[in-house]
Amino acid sequence: MNSQQQQTGPSHSGAALIGVHELAEFVFCPRAGLLEFENRHQDVGLEDRELVHRLDYLPDFDAQAIEAALEAKWKEIWKFLTWAPLAVVVAVVVGLFINRTLGWLLALSGAFPGYWLWRQIRDVATLAARFRAGTEASGQEPDMSRHEIQPVNWWSLLKAGFSSVEYDGPHEDPALGLIGAPWRVLHRDSLRIPVFRKISGKPELHAQHRVRMAAYAHLVTTAEGGQSPYGVVLFGRGYDGVAVPFLPQGLAEVRECLARLREMLAIVEHQKLSPEVPAESICANCHWGRPIVCGGSESNFASAQYRTKGNDKRIYSSRCGDRYRWVPPHKIALAKGLREPE
Ligand code: SF4
Repeated sequence: MNSQQQQTGPSHSGAALIGVHELAEFVFCPRAGLLEFENRHQDVGLEDRELVHRLDYLPDFDAQAIEAALEAKWKEIWKFLTWAPLAVVVAVVVGLFINRTLGWLLALSGAFPGYWLWRQIRDVATLAARFRAGTEASGQEPDMSRHEIQPVNWWSLLKAGFSSVEYDGPHEDPALGLIGAPWRVLHRDSLRIPVFRKISGKPELHAQHRVRMAAYAHLVTTAEGGQSPYGVVLFGRGYDGVAVPFLPQGLAEVRECLARLREMLAIVEHQKLSPEVPAESICANCHWGRPIVCGGSESNFASAQYRTKGNDKRIYSSRCGDRYRWVPPHKIALAKGLREPE
């Protein structure tokens, strides 16, 4: 703990429910865990919460929804193509026999429906590719007797008989004081397989992902019964990922990390200390340390920004920097030459 960077601690007691995403952030970096705890974002089973709103609007990961959207798009396009020739004839007739300028205006106004049509065709191509990926997959699932990480494919799991369930609310274990919501849970008989999506970064797992998956598997089986011999992590925006075995030591690790997180929260609350700077250079790609141009809307701490000037003469701050009063060595901060203010 760092006594030079005193901050007001969280108002929650050590017995407060801890979110799985808060736990995972803590495993990644204690400062990130505290930031996540203080901001209390809803767990949605996605590592990159900020990308949630940038996920596209077309259905995905659900064959029936994709097929229905595809049919609806085709209907719209055919309706458009039915009326489009008539509109062209009207524009030509007006231009030739009534008023040439008005005819050109009518023709030019066709740019908007043309753009609409281009977007519809683009959506149809996207949906068709997704539908093909689902229909062409063959049923395959991880070998549960092998206690190791194995590659998986979303559509292959569905073809192997799993159904995907999206829950309205999080799963909770009051005894452990843990709460969390995987992105989906795959059901088949008594199997309950939590699924989590790591959207950005390399398709690889770190300690925070293994703890996260173990925590989800524990929550799902505690709340519903059944077995979670493994959890699934899907990488990027695609359908490939890995199955992560859920072993007894996984739960032991969750308990141990929870105890350490609670200990840190108690120290922050009672002694007004901040967690130490992480030992490794994990700040390089951390979203909390990413510099934001001051005046932008992204910082949650606009009233207490820790501002530094970049070599491009612009003023920056970051959420981690605002909270802990420093300049995290994020790769963008290094590139822009951000330094501690004098
Ligand atoms: S920027 Fe660095 S210190 Fe801050 S939360 Fe991220 S990893 Fe931790």
